[in-house]
Amino acid sequence: MGEMTARLLVIGGGPGGYAAAIRAGQLGVDTVLVERDRLGGTCLNIGCIPSKALIHVAEAFGRAAEQAEASPFGLRLGRPSLDLARAMEWKEGIVGRLQGGVAALLKRSGVRTVHGQAELLDGKTCRVETDTGPQTIRAEHLLLATGSEPADLPGLPFGGRVLSSTGALALTEVPEHLAVVGAGYIGLELGMAYARLGARVVVVEAAERILPAWDAELTRPVLRRMERLGMEVLTGAEARGLAEEGAALRVATAEGRERRIAADAILLAVGRRPRTRGFGLERLDLTMNGPFLRVDERCATSMRNVWAVGDVTGEPMLAHRAIAQGEVVAGIVAGERRAFDPVAIPAICFTSPEVVAVGLSPTEARQAGHEVRLGQFPFSANGKALAEDAEEGFVRIVARADNHLVLGIQAVGQGVSELAAGFALALEMGARLEDVAATVHAHPTRGEAVQEAARMALGHALHL
Ligand code: FAD
Ligand code: NAD
Repeated sequence: MGEMTARLLVIGGGPGGYAAAIRAGQLGVDTVLVERDRLGGTCLNIGCIPSKALIHVAEAFGRAAEQAEASPFGLRLGRPSLDLARAMEWKEGIVGRLQGGVAALLKRSGVRTVHGQAELLDGKTCRVETDTGPQTIRAEHLLLATGSEPADLPGLPFGGRVLSSTGALALTEVPEHLAVVGAGYIGLELGMAYARLGARVVVVEAAERILPAWDAELTRPVLRRMERLGMEVLTGAEARGLAEEGAALRVATAEGRERRIAADAILLAVGRRPRTRGFGLERLDLTMNGPFLRVDERCATSMRNVWAVGDVTGEPMLAHRAIAQGEVVAGIVAGERRAFDPVAIPAICFTSPEVVAVGLSPTEARQAGHEVRLGQFPFSANGKALAEDAEEGFVRIVARADNHLVLGIQAVGQGVSELAAGFALALEMGARLEDVAATVHAHPTRGEAVQEAARMALGHALHL
């Protein structure tokens, strides 16, 4: 049996684990990373990146189809067609390039990577079955970055026509009828992509509205777009299971009736579960926070020198949170005084149009006891948005009424995901409305809507 020792042992090579390992290596910490599957984890291989590639394909196809039907600026196109199998190959090529990049970065920072499933023996040791035999790894510090996996429903286990996001990201033909269970991030991002690619999509959501975790005003343009795409949305509805005959899903509607929805494929997207079982974690008897590992602001678990980052530590289960936590842990292991304590973690739903939320919504700000000042600027008054035939949506800024400190910025509209960096920077730097309003924003850009929203909150928008 092979034996290795290290200062830091990282279990899981997703965004949380690989970011921690790269940074630890850069800081001179002797680090070993164990990954049982592919470097890059959920995000790179079966999550963020492949889903955005598919959304890009759907966007390109959808635009071409819309322009072919009626172009407001006289473009003449034939009806497009798509080879989805080729699109999936292209997507896998991107994933492969990024995976190679992660492997190279780990190597460059001196991290040793072990391929295989880690079985924890205690808080400092794991055993890995590798292709060349078992390997024991001992370290002073252990970082758990084991991520999450899709949740299924009792009457609807994954398999056959019932797909998780992983299956939906590997289809080689567009299903004629797609049923989507769950109108959260995955259900809407992938459901809308397949609707744009020509599938007839029905979305079944248990809550009263789509994207129930987001405020209704922000998600309204998404719902309107879904309706224009011919998607059917059943809210307050429950998926019961597969129909015995035919390709259909049984659904209990809000009105208490049972409906059968035609479905060649069913995308089940009702959330994800932290990965805490099957690798000896129970031996450590760590304090839990519901199904997640409990961590403090340094990402420390209840056992000394055992750390945890990413999806296994709870909401929001987002890659940029995992990466930021991973960097913090690397710093701490290297001797720095660090904490994971951001003012805000941006959230983006890559629907069509996109939705961005950073910091507090008006309701959340009021619930937190603030008297608020709001500014909301529509893209219908923004030159760049109009010139790009994308006037739907708005930017909204939320600030304290007394000292004008910006508490939150949200937006919905085409391409607004790229505005998220500026929103987060404003909050993290403690910007006031006056700072945003006085910052010279380049013209013509959608970013001007942010400046105008701040001006509006101060009572003097220029272009409205
Ligand atoms: P993971 O990425 O899940 O990585 C954990 C790794 O640990 C895995 O590679 C796993 O194989 C490995 N592992 C687990 N147990 C062991 C073991 N015992 N031994 C060895 N290895 C082990 N987030 C965003 O911020 N933006 C997005 O646009 C976005 N889109 C998404 C789209 C989809 C379809 C999905 C499913 C998720 C998306 N996410 C997105 C969420 C994002 O993927 C996760 O938040 C992120 O991957 C979490 O990183 P992590 O390092 O905690 O875990
Ligand atoms: P989600 O939590 O975003 O949405 C799940 C939805 O399913 C909710 O609206 C919920 O009300 C609904 N639901 C739950 N049980 C149901 C039932 N029995 N019947 C019908 N509806 C039901 O979860 P998700 O879409 O599976 O995504 C998982 C996680 O992955 C997200 O929380 C997010 O952290 C991450 N993710 C992020 C992005 C992004 O950042 N753009 C994209 C995809 C995934």
